[in-house]
Amino acid sequence: MPPRVRFAPSPSGYLHIGGARTALFNWLWARRQGGTFILRVEDTDQERSRPESIQGIVDSMRWLGLDWDEGPGVGGPCAPYFQSERRALYREAAERLVREGKAYRCYCTKEELDVARAKARAEHPNAQFVYPGTCRDRKDEPDRPHAVRFKASREGAVAFVDKVFGTITTPNKELQDFVLLRSDGYPLYNLAAVVDDHEMGITLVARGRDHLGNTPQQILIYRALGYEPPEFAHLPMILSPSGEKLSKRHAAVGVDEYRARGYTPVGVLNYLVRFGWSFGDQEIFSRRELVDLFDWQRVSRSDGRFDEKKFLDVNFEHMKRDDLTPPEAYADMVVPLLRERGLAEPDRATLLAALPLVRERARTLVEAAHHLDFYFRDPPEFDDKAKAKFLTPQAAPWLDAVHRLFEQGDFTASRLEQAVKSWLDQEQLSMKQVAQPLRVCVTGRSASPPLFDVLEVLGRPLALRRLERGAELARKG
Ligand code: GLU
Repeated sequence: MPPRVRFAPSPSGYLHIGGARTALFNWLWARRQGGTFILRVEDTDQERSRPESIQGIVDSMRWLGLDWDEGPGVGGPCAPYFQSERRALYREAAERLVREGKAYRCYCTKEELDVARAKARAEHPNAQFVYPGTCRDRKDEPDRPHAVRFKASREGAVAFVDKVFGTITTPNKELQDFVLLRSDGYPLYNLAAVVDDHEMGITLVARGRDHLGNTPQQILIYRALGYEPPEFAHLPMILSPSGEKLSKRHAAVGVDEYRARGYTPVGVLNYLVRFGWSFGDQEIFSRRELVDLFDWQRVSRSDGRFDEKKFLDVNFEHMKRDDLTPPEAYADMVVPLLRERGLAEPDRATLLAALPLVRERARTLVEAAHHLDFYFRDPPEFDDKAKAKFLTPQAAPWLDAVHRLFEQGDFTASRLEQAVKSWLDQEQLSMKQVAQPLRVCVTGRSASPPLFDVLEVLGRPLALRRLERGAELARKG
């Protein structure tokens, strides 16, 4: 049976790269197996959940190309896909457990629990507070304000086989009568996740190993409700370079930030997939390869450390190689950034011709847009220092001469270079003297891809115009 998997983020305003990694593994598995990938929004924490915090996640998922088959904006047979709209289901499940004696209503107020907690802390400062079961055997009073707690067994153990971590056994005495439903009627994560994973027919739950501790409780809930638990796969964590939980203090952690820096979606996915999955020593994968190669046997338990430089290198590799980023795709990705720079409709043919020169040096799309700018901005934007240094009265006659050389003959890099070289020989000038003034008047900058290649891409009319204007500026000094 093809798998049904899900990514179930709690809205927080943006998609954390750790969440993106988890989404990726689920997506890859669904795509590999012809299964279904579901996006479910776990928005039962009313304080944190705002519509805009969901939008950020949805936008980043779309940008990464992690498309979902069921969920927000798509719909599906298990709609709604927002937990805040599924509260009746959780209440129903909790009520059923109460009726069947597997859960009970707890009337303890927050104040009473605070007192019990303080007392326990005074007696055993290091022990975790365990709810003493005050309401376990109380008379059932559905009309009094109450939470619903699971009636956990004190004996025995819960065991399950995790696809990554193997057999995990947790003695029941470590579990307490945990809350299923709060007194305001909102479910806790464990209940809502179980009800939804069951209702949505999820066959495999893959999520960060920070949830490993919740799984035994979830299994108890499955069993109490008479449901078959799904399979589980817990994934190692992305840690900071020094081994702590990765947070904003260490690095940019939002997918949107890498998008703004000009990373490509596949560059991001390729870097993230290595947190948990590997395929021999191979570092660089296309999206297609990831889908074809992904499996659970190759997922390891070892946490990884986030390395910003490595991330940039992986992205650069994707931008360099035209088997990974074909020219048309590269052009499509960089055009919006050129537009942002005020270059409305860059000529497609010029853009495609310039790309091979840019690929070798642009590590991000932002850098690519910078390198491409002068092809489309006329006149180019002059770097003040470069202009002052190289567009001098001495250089003016050289630029006039080169202008004459470029007026006729083939406008190819090799022909132009040949022509300039023989003229330099005649005049007993060196390439070193002339190349920089020429470069500055054509590109506005003192550094660029090989000059004659740039000229060929630029084409005769534009090149001549720039030489003329450059010579004028040089005369003025
Ligand atoms: N909403 C939970 C989270 O964002 C989901 C955990 C799970 O996948 O079960 O961590």
